[in-house]
Amino acid sequence: MVRQYLEIKQQHPGTLLFFRMGDFYELFFDDAVLAAREMDVTLTARHKDSDNPIPMCGVPHHAAAGYIAKLIEKGFRVAVCEQTEEPSAKTKLVRREVIRVVTPGTAIDEQMVGGAENRFLAAVAGAGDAMGAAFLDLTTGEFLATEFRGEGNFESVLAQLEQFQPREVIAPKSLERLLAPMFSKAGVAVEETTTDGERRLPPRFACALTLCDDWHFSTDLCDDFLRTHFGVASLAGFGLEGRVRAVSAAAGALRYIRDTQRNDARHVTGISWFEPSDFMQLDAATLRNLEIVESSSGGKRDSLLSVIDTTETGMGSRLLKNWLLRPSMNVRELDARLDAVAELHRDTIRRDRLRQTLKRVQDIERLLGRVSLGTATPRDVVALRASCDALPDLKKLLAESAAALLRQLDDSLDDCADLRARIADTLTENPPLKIEEGSVIRAGYDAELDELRSLRHDSQSAIAAIETRERERTGIASLKVRFNNVFGYYIEISKANLKLVPDDYDRKQTLVNAERFTTPELKDLEDRVLNAEARIVTIETKIFQDLRASILDDTPRLQTAARVVATLDCLAGFAHLAAVRRYVRPVLHEGDELVITGGRHPVVETHTSRFVPNDVVINNSTERLHIITGPNMGGKSVYLRQIGLIAVMAHIGCFVPAKEARVPVIDRVFTRIGASDNLSRGRSTFMVEMTETANILNTATPRSLVLLDEIGRGTATFDGLSIAWAVGEYLHENGQHAAKTLFATHYHEMTELARLLPGVKNVQLAVSENTGDIVFLHKVIDGSASKSYGIEVARLAGLPATVLARAREILQNLEANELDVLGKPKLARHLPSRKKKNDDQPNLFDKANETVLDELRNLELDHLSAADALTVLERLKSRVL
Ligand code: ADP
Repeated sequence: MVRQYLEIKQQHPGTLLFFRMGDFYELFFDDAVLAAREMDVTLTARHKDSDNPIPMCGVPHHAAAGYIAKLIEKGFRVAVCEQTEEPSAKTKLVRREVIRVVTPGTAIDEQMVGGAENRFLAAVAGAGDAMGAAFLDLTTGEFLATEFRGEGNFESVLAQLEQFQPREVIAPKSLERLLAPMFSKAGVAVEETTTDGERRLPPRFACALTLCDDWHFSTDLCDDFLRTHFGVASLAGFGLEGRVRAVSAAAGALRYIRDTQRNDARHVTGISWFEPSDFMQLDAATLRNLEIVESSSGGKRDSLLSVIDTTETGMGSRLLKNWLLRPSMNVRELDARLDAVAELHRDTIRRDRLRQTLKRVQDIERLLGRVSLGTATPRDVVALRASCDALPDLKKLLAESAAALLRQLDDSLDDCADLRARIADTLTENPPLKIEEGSVIRAGYDAELDELRSLRHDSQSAIAAIETRERERTGIASLKVRFNNVFGYYIEISKANLKLVPDDYDRKQTLVNAERFTTPELKDLEDRVLNAEARIVTIETKIFQDLRASILDDTPRLQTAARVVATLDCLAGFAHLAAVRRYVRPVLHEGDELVITGGRHPVVETHTSRFVPNDVVINNSTERLHIITGPNMGGKSVYLRQIGLIAVMAHIGCFVPAKEARVPVIDRVFTRIGASDNLSRGRSTFMVEMTETANILNTATPRSLVLLDEIGRGTATFDGLSIAWAVGEYLHENGQHAAKTLFATHYHEMTELARLLPGVKNVQLAVSENTGDIVFLHKVIDGSASKSYGIEVARLAGLPATVLARAREILQNLEANELDVLGKPKLARHLPSRKKKNDDQPNLFDKANETVLDELRNLELDHLSAADALTVLERLKSRVL
């Protein structure tokens, strides 16, 4: 057995081998040690008392799915090895085979896949002058590919990985050196510490990386492989002709799926080429900072996605997330969506009916995925039918539409009448989870099945009748006819009545208080029932499998239906949202001006009844760089983010929280959020801050929107200010990278930029000061804040009065620009303790320093030799206090 185990293990490197032994899956050796820890189960050993005990742990087979899910979530890969023959007395060692390798990117079981998310497997291929990337969601059959040529192609691929957020990335082994350091090993991002204690950047991708042999991606093999899978003569129909790197990546992904699933994934019926430049780019930092699909605390709650997701189906929810991760830049497409949303927004009754009807649709894509991979249960298929039952109703509701997109959805939606009828005719209304439990196939569907069932039924009745008859014949009132799995049918007689047992009874089993018997008649009936039952299961299984296969032939229709449902669900959801949250239709245009009137933050406004709306006008000429100042807690971050969020929402075709919004096509939204804001998550170092800034300065274009919330905070004041200033200038001046920029800063000096550069505008967050109290108005007004109010905020936070008083004093000095000879603020002056003693006496320290300054002022440098200069310098230095 151990030899068999080792052989199989060797064939599946890089996986945890779940080795089926009876009712358990067992893991051995290193696998056991690792898995016991990760699954939190007890580690034991085989041959415990020998010299070489084998570490071992196990989980019951019926609970395995949950454990596998746990491991997959952590980024491990699991090979499931089953017994492929029945154990019998003759076979010493049963045959075993790996039937599936479950990996983070290929998991399909319900326990592992949340409904609202795609589970993409990504593949990258190529290197040097061109690279391709492909994304495949096995649970739904979605499959996309693209490629990049020329300079920066590697970084572009990485940017796509950030946007798709795959669970697993596969790549050729030759890319290991480049890729491996960017991935957290087991799928969980861990911040590594180097030996000298310095914090290293966390890996860029918190998912699993799987390396495959390079031949998996080799060009000529790949083209053939894809054509064979899709049954086409050329890949041109998918837009993939001549895109060899995209083809390599796509084939790599599909081959990996087929290898791990041991299945040909027929529901993957096509692949779409996509042009990354058709989509707005949101890098990982921006997705995080704007809390687009996840909030800063990690969960979905309070993210943009969570507040705008009012979809009714898993498919709609997934599509919405995809739209958010990759918003469209196609104005025509977006206008079409907005027209549809506007129509449903107006027509409340139809919208509500649509949403009610959508509720009845279950996850067609996922159900279909399970049908294709052979894991669909009879209940899944009935759910598929029930879902399709809603399609004619959806069509009816769409029939009256005016918006082009709604009409188009109606046209492409097939109501699948024949398929529904086929399933309804074949399966019973409420079949059990497992076929073996019977009653899956409807009566009247198959003559032989009906006959067997009635035979079984008649025999069962005959058996039931035996009980009554035998009771009368023997006179034993407590005589029972019963069934169990081991002994079949039997007649049970209590000990007390044994003397009444007739001669034709055969003893089968003896219990404490009773004996069990059979008769030739009972045996005969039993055979008939059991044979009929076995045959019934065989027939039901066969019919069900045929039905599954026939559904698979309808895959393209069902996938189209699923996509129509998803789109409709998003649009109706947007319309609903617009109605309940008072969102307005944004105007998208190809110009350069972003104008928002009465804009609100979609998430923050749901937490307060008194959200203060704000405006913005920003363009690429007169007002291209806004410097935003104002007190801490004044509302700068909220303001910045709401502008970014409104821009993103407009680019998915959603109405926006504002009175009015004119939004230009934006190619990228960049964000850089101050070091201090993020420190609590242990992510931010000055290095991270600068890396993100560098990325913005190198890649922003005039069509980008750049949101900077503090720059330079992670270093000393003067450095920080200098960097912030230079960044502002660069974004304003450099034609190629002059993006529309909103720059919130606590460096007051930055507001001076408005005097020097024509496109800079100062805005501030208003506060009202009332007898020393400050009130944040959260209103953005023109001009720069006259002071930063840090001390007032500190007072609100409860700093002791003496500290506040002292801080005010120091601030006064600083603001008076009183620096000493070394450029340091003269903090020593007016120390409260000294001040009390000699209030009006000149400060000793000042006096001493003043004489030094006088001497410096009077030095005549023209007549000073180098040697003399040194002597003077030495003297002066010794006198400075
Ligand atoms: P800053 O970035 O200036 O320090 P924030 O933008 O973080 O300030 O805002 C601080 C708090 O003020 C937010 O948590 C929010 O509760 C509140 N706030 C901000 N903007 C508004 C607004 N427009 N209306 C109402 N409350 C707001």
